[in-house]
Amino acid sequence: MIFQSLASSSSGNAYLVSDGNTRILLECGLSHKKLQQACGFKLTSLDAVLISHEHKDHSHCVEKILASGIPVYLSQGTARALELPEKLLDLATEMEAGKQFTVGTLTVMPFSTFHDAQEPLGFVIQSQVDWDVFAFATDTVNLPYNFPGVNILAVEANFQQDILDRSQRMPEKTKHRVSNTHMEIDKLCQCLRRMDLRACRELWLLHLSSAMSHEGQFIHKVQRAVPGWVQVRCCPK
Ligand SMILES: [Zn+2]
Repeated sequence: MIFQSLASSSSGNAYLVSDGNTRILLECGLSHKKLQQACGFKLTSLDAVLISHEHKDHSHCVEKILASGIPVYLSQGTARALELPEKLLDLATEMEAGKQFTVGTLTVMPFSTFHDAQEPLGFVIQSQVDWDVFAFATDTVNLPYNFPGVNILAVEANFQQDILDRSQRMPEKTKHRVSNTHMEIDKLCQCLRRMDLRACRELWLLHLSSAMSHEGQFIHKVQRAVPGWVQVRCCPK
């Protein structure tokens, strides 16, 4: 299985997962045009689009995606929050934490994440071609899970508490929101130390805040929290 980041920031998120047989887009938080350019292939050849939650940087062009006939999966809460027109809502497929479904050769198990959204989800995706296990979690203040047998992990590493605390530019209210809804780097390291990463080969850090994170330090911190064979990388901001 291959994971690829097309965009990863609070101004837009889009990621591809493919096992060579089935290709899924995670998030569509770019304009349709930008997404089309970033993909470099016809969007209509996607097997599905999964949306974690309703915030615009994850769902920007969902209406155009639905209208173009690509299967879209989202939770009931996300669908409600997006206030989709009924004829588009009818085209979407609901997904729910704990209820597995299949798209081509990929099986998807959604799980709950912890964010200021209606019904946010993360995903564990397994290929029936190479049996790789991939786990994806973004926009979550906590990740109290183990992902048994995970080979590729893509997780939010949004900010560092002391950088946030020192920031003069960010209003206190926003600081409070970020602290309670996004993943802090040391918190992530704590979560990773609890996971069984024996089979993990790649760990991608997602959604780094442009001002409240430090790519080099984040990689260094995470490398110290995970087994030495795991390749730790940041998705470009
Ligand atoms: Zn969000």
